[in-house]
Amino acid sequence: MTSIADLPAVERLPYDIARIRRDFPILKREVASGAHLVYLDNAATSQRPVQVLAEITRFYRDHNANIHRAVHTLSVEATELYEQARSKVARFIGAADPREIIFTRNTTESINLVAHAWARKFLKPGDEVVVSEIEHHSNIVPWQMLRDERGITLKYIPMLPDGTLDLDAAQSIITERTRLVSITAMSNALGTIVPLDVITARAKAVGALVLVDGAQSVPHMPVDVQALGVDFLAFSGHKMLAPFGIGVLWGRLPLLDSMDPFMGGGDMISTVSMERSTWADVPAKFEAGTPNVGDAVALGAAVDYLTALGMDEVRRHEREITDYALRRLADVPGVTIFGVPDADRRGGVISFELEGVHPHDIGQVLDTRGVAIRTGHHCAQPVMLALNVPATARASFYIYNTTAEVDALASGLEEVARFFGVK
Ligand code: PMP
Repeated sequence: MTSIADLPAVERLPYDIARIRRDFPILKREVASGAHLVYLDNAATSQRPVQVLAEITRFYRDHNANIHRAVHTLSVEATELYEQARSKVARFIGAADPREIIFTRNTTESINLVAHAWARKFLKPGDEVVVSEIEHHSNIVPWQMLRDERGITLKYIPMLPDGTLDLDAAQSIITERTRLVSITAMSNALGTIVPLDVITARAKAVGALVLVDGAQSVPHMPVDVQALGVDFLAFSGHKMLAPFGIGVLWGRLPLLDSMDPFMGGGDMISTVSMERSTWADVPAKFEAGTPNVGDAVALGAAVDYLTALGMDEVRRHEREITDYALRRLADVPGVTIFGVPDADRRGGVISFELEGVHPHDIGQVLDTRGVAIRTGHHCAQPVMLALNVPATARASFYIYNTTAEVDALASGLEEVARFFGVK
């Protein structure tokens, strides 16, 4: 395994939006209507830069082989690239050791891994798992399944009307019986940034573990697992410039060591006889079968790209765009923006409604102008229930978005408002 110290340093580049946009050829394309693409659906998935696309091609063209099991040159190279990617990810999130990085398919699989391999082993009826009302379904459903199967209690930290969490309530909801607090760092539906320090302090005071759903934080802001003092972190490559089908679970090494495997099969064993098997050490214990080698390597390239920009600069840029968008959209007749009104407490996600117009109609009219947003419940139906709306329209930003694109969104919405006669 490549140690973090052996990785080459990544050269820091100035934040040059024109240069960044040149790395994303898709941003130059036209959509069906002939309009120029304005991609504002980054919370669903990001675009991929040429550097990541090139890495995928390079891997399959020059190094492709199955990993870990052979002595031939290609297999050794592929193994090295795969393990290097693991180390890059470890360095990116401040992990103590590359073995703490488990490659999965996505955030959903990472959370399910913890529900199976940790919770099913260690939790008993009456133990409590605490999540919040603003979670993505992937951080609700696995715990409901566990509750129904094992008789644990599932509790929710409620959302306040402004889309933030009720932190006072959290103090009493997290109790001595709480074994795990599984919480998003940032809501994909509202953009709310959760004060993880407050939640973690309470969880630690009662001896509970903390799992952070980092699907919307790791791509968008500096994340350091040591500084956070949490126990697990789950995130997806596809929201941070990498391909679909590669995700990460980070966990503290002793915890991962104490857990049983998630899936059984090749690569995750130490010995197999006809009677029984013994397990490989982490991370192999949790990576049964042939992994997604090429996309893990490409995730390493995505991490290099973001590191070169600097995650503090990524956050600064998105904060600026979000601040501009909050002000610009507030001027459009009939628009109501959900969530906290200031860009300091939210990421680059803006959920809104336009009075009397169904979000799907907004999305469709905007698409004719090339503006890609998402409409629906955003896999966060409890948030929609709390807001008392069936769906919202959502614009979400990333490293390559510009204020001119926010203007395109706003003028598109003005047209929707005119078209539907909104005053
Ligand atoms: N959590 C959050 C906060 C998300 O935004 C998402 C993706 N929308 C997920 C979890 C699930 O990610 P994936 O579908 O990649 O597993």
